[in-house]
Amino acid sequence: MDAETLRQYLEYYQDLGIKSLYRRDRPSEPLFKILEDIGDCRRCGLHAQRHKIVFGVGDEQAKLVFVGEGPGADEDAQGIPFVGRAGQLLTQMIEGTAKKEGIPLLRKDVYICNVVKCRPPENRTPQPDEMEICGQFLSRQLLAIAPKAICALGSTAAKFLTHSKEGVTRMRGNWYKWNDIPVMVTYHPSYLLRAYNVGPKREAWEDLKKVLHFVYD
Ligand code: URA
Repeated sequence: MDAETLRQYLEYYQDLGIKSLYRRDRPSEPLFKILEDIGDCRRCGLHAQRHKIVFGVGDEQAKLVFVGEGPGADEDAQGIPFVGRAGQLLTQMIEGTAKKEGIPLLRKDVYICNVVKCRPPENRTPQPDEMEICGQFLSRQLLAIAPKAICALGSTAAKFLTHSKEGVTRMRGNWYKWNDIPVMVTYHPSYLLRAYNVGPKREAWEDLKKVLHFVYD
């Protein structure tokens, strides 16, 4: 990670308040420490073509964490997860569903990250070795945040978190566990962007309703 990116993250975390940087209420490590350990990561081949490491964004004390697959082109350029078209849909889904259900929740109140932190070339699915190497940081992020629930977006996140070999169509809408934390599996927003996926879109809204009520009721 270059010095400028590190500085921006520091500022971002300071904006959230110093309490969230060095939490004394829980024994978990601060996210900033994980970011420091990632550093200018070259642990796998994905570093070669990346522009920015996409660590994660949101509230360090979030009760709900969304996990995607890996950064796309927009995320790689900005260093922030889910900021492209799929990200805009995810934001709409989170904020729209919450509003409809009477839950005061904005995107900034949850935490959003990915299984791999660097963009796979041509947006290909991350390879098992890349997921294993980078997944250690996701695991540390989840342990640090200790949310009430995790929402896995699409099959890469679902497989990483649950080790299930089932497809997303079968898994979605069901609860699994990651280290005792409930995991809801749903479709990836990129899949929902395809116009003909009207049925899955409805199902994803149902899944989101379920997870929001579980976490915030
Ligand atoms: N798709 C993902 O899985 N993650 C992102 O951050 C953006 C698109």
